[in-house]
Amino acid sequence: MIAASLKTLWAELAPFNAKLVAVSKTKPNKDLLEAYGAGNRVFGENKVQELVAKAESLPTDIEWHFIGHLQRNKVKYIAPFVHLIHAVDSLKLLKEINKQGKKLTKTISCLLQVHIAQEETKFGFNAQELIAAITSEEIKTLSHIKIIGLMGMATNTQNKAQIKLEFAELHSLYKEVKQLNLPQNIKMNELSMGMSGDYKLALAEGSTMVRIGSTIFGLRNCTINV
Ligand SMILES: *Cc1c(COP(=O)(O)O)cnc(C)c1O
Repeated sequence: MIAASLKTLWAELAPFNAKLVAVSKTKPNKDLLEAYGAGNRVFGENKVQELVAKAESLPTDIEWHFIGHLQRNKVKYIAPFVHLIHAVDSLKLLKEINKQGKKLTKTISCLLQVHIAQEETKFGFNAQELIAAITSEEIKTLSHIKIIGLMGMATNTQNKAQIKLEFAELHSLYKEVKQLNLPQNIKMNELSMGMSGDYKLALAEGSTMVRIGSTIFGLRNCTINV
């Protein structure tokens, strides 16, 4: 079932040239290995401890993406091996990632999270804060991070028109930011948006990277994960 879902998704993503992050949070290693066996190499996790444990026991050519809210004191645990951090929502966090990257002499790729949903519980910069951060003097000095794009999550609603509008807004902000005179450590090439329930809308609005869990691995127990 996992392999078949992946095949369907890859075929759907191909015309858009979009990448798939298989979101494996809460799922056992055997499910990840099944996806791996089908050819998937990109996995997304949202808990530091779980990501570290999985990375230690699974094949080393997996590209691990951290997609959750990241606390500064936990950056050090994932810095050595993480491929992309999706949800950076403050300059403070970016500075900590830079500090850990420096220690490892590694440049760590990040996406800045933009708050596009109506729910107040979702993290991220608003448009104004994003532009202020990107054009700040401070960001230029962060030599061990690379900001490669933006990430956003739409409101959890059945209202497709609203979701579409939120993705369209994020896409237009992405294009606007791309045109700014950006420092060396910022190159806007990725727009991470779209999950199981809304990835088709996200692709139509310019997503380059979708993060999909339940469509591949089945539903999660909703009492332990949102
Ligand atoms: C869990 C999660 C996803 C995947 O959600 P599904 O609805 O299972 O596809 C995508 N992005 C983030 C940030 C997540 O936490």
